[in-house]
Amino acid sequence: MTTQKSFEPTRFFSTNRAAPVCGLREALLKGQAPDRGLYMPETFHPLAQEELAALKDRSYPEVAHALLRRFTAGVLDDDRLLALCRDAYNFDVPLEKVTARRYVMRLDRGPTASFKDFAARMMARWMGALMAQDGGELVILTATSGDTGSAVAHAYYRVPGVKVVVLFPTDEVSNRQRKQMTTLGENITTVAVDGKFDDCQAMVKRAFADGELAGIQLSSANSINVGRLLPQAVYYAYAWLKLADLGKREPVVFSVPSGNFGDMMGAVFARKMGVPIERLVIATNANDEVPQFLATGTYRKIEPSRVCISNAMNVGHPSNLARLVEVYGGQMDEKGELKKPADMEAMRRDLYAVSIDDAETRSTIRNAWQEHQLLLEPHGAVGWAGLTRYLAVVAPTPEPLCVSVETAHPAKFPDEIKALVGIDPPLPKSLEGIEQKTESYERMKVDYETLKVLLKQRFLRH
Ligand SMILES: *Cc1c(COP(=O)(O)O)cnc(C)c1O
Repeated sequence: MTTQKSFEPTRFFSTNRAAPVCGLREALLKGQAPDRGLYMPETFHPLAQEELAALKDRSYPEVAHALLRRFTAGVLDDDRLLALCRDAYNFDVPLEKVTARRYVMRLDRGPTASFKDFAARMMARWMGALMAQDGGELVILTATSGDTGSAVAHAYYRVPGVKVVVLFPTDEVSNRQRKQMTTLGENITTVAVDGKFDDCQAMVKRAFADGELAGIQLSSANSINVGRLLPQAVYYAYAWLKLADLGKREPVVFSVPSGNFGDMMGAVFARKMGVPIERLVIATNANDEVPQFLATGTYRKIEPSRVCISNAMNVGHPSNLARLVEVYGGQMDEKGELKKPADMEAMRRDLYAVSIDDAETRSTIRNAWQEHQLLLEPHGAVGWAGLTRYLAVVAPTPEPLCVSVETAHPAKFPDEIKALVGIDPPLPKSLEGIEQKTESYERMKVDYETLKVLLKQRFLRH
C-alpha cells in the first residue's frame, strides 16, 4: 500500500456544549454526551478534489476505509480498519439507473435488508476492536419493538468481545421479526418478555442505572451514536464517485427518506468531507415537523407521531435535528428547544424539505413500477416522490445528476407491494430460509429481578 497521509486523532464535542471534548473511543462507548447532547466531530477532514477523484475505481470497502480512517486515526490502526470495512461491507450497493439523469441507490442488501446495516455493522466492529485492545467485554443491552433489535443482533453477531441481550415484547413482534433475532445464537441472547415494549424499555433503563451491575460494561448501541453517522457518509461519496463526471466536479442531488434524520446527516457529513452535493432533498412522511421548520423557522414537534405506511419514519421529534441545527450555526437542546437560531437562509439553500402523505406514497409505488419498472417500498417511495417534487418545482436545467435512496427491501412489505403493483417481490438472500431455522430464546415476566439475575450470572466477573 502507498504511504498515506496521517491524521491527528479527531475530537468530538457535544451539541449542548456543556460536556468535555473527547476522542472517538469515548464518544463510541458513551453514545450520548453527559450533558445529554450529541457528539459531533470538530473537523470533517475535507478531501481535496484529487484525493476524492483517486477513489473513483475503488470498491465500497476501500472507499469506506479511505474516508473513515480520518476519524479513527489514533484509535484503530489502518490495516485493522481496512479488514473491518471488508468484513462489514461484504454485500452489493446497487446504483440502479431509472432515467438518463436519475438513479436509485439500494441500501437494502445487508443481513437485515435495511440501510441501518451499514452503520450498525461498522459501529459493532469498532466496538469489538476497542474491546480487543484492552481485553474487555462489552454487553449491549437493548429493547426492541421490532426491526432495531434484529439490526443490532445481526450487526454484533460473532463480533469478538461483545455480547448482546435483546428484550422484546412477546406479543408485539411479528413471527418474522422474532425469527430474525432468535435464530442467531452464539453471542446473541434474546429474551421474550410477557409485557409491552415500554416494559422492556423500562427494565433496560433500570439496568443501566443499577449500581450492582456496575461490574458489567453495558452499552446501548444507541441510534444517536456518532459511530452510526460516520459510516453513513460513505455511501453518498461512493454514489458520487461512481456516477458523476469527476473531471468537471459534477454536483449531485440526493433525496433521502427521513425519520430521525441520521441517514440525512450522513449526506451532510459527506458534503463537509468534500462531496459536491448541489441540493439535499429531505423527504418525510406526514410527520412534517422538519419541512415546517424550514418553511417557517419555528420548530414544533408532533406528539404523538402520525402513523404512516413508511413506519420506520413515524417520528415526531427527530433525534438528530440538534446536529443539523449545529451545522448551521445554531443550538438546539434534547427537548427540541432552540437555544440559538440557525442560519435558515443557508439551510434553505442547501436543503429542500418535502412531506409526502400515504396516498402519494402509494401512487408513487404504482407509477414508478408502471413507468420505469422501478420497484420501491414505502420508505424509498417517499424519497422518490420527494425528488420528483423537487425537480418539478425547482426545475433546474439542465437536469442535474440525481440519486434517490431506497432504505429497505421491497420484500419486507409484501402486502402493500402486491396490492399496488400485483407482484410478490422476491426475498433477498439474507431473508431466505429463516422459517426453517431453529429458534432459541429466554422467556420472562415483567420482573426486573429476573433480568438482573440473568445479567449477573452471564456477565459479571469477579
Ligand atoms: C430508520 C429508517 C429510515 C429513517 O432513517 P433516519 O436515519 O431515521 O432518518 C428510513 N427507512 C427505513 C427502512 C428505516 O429503517
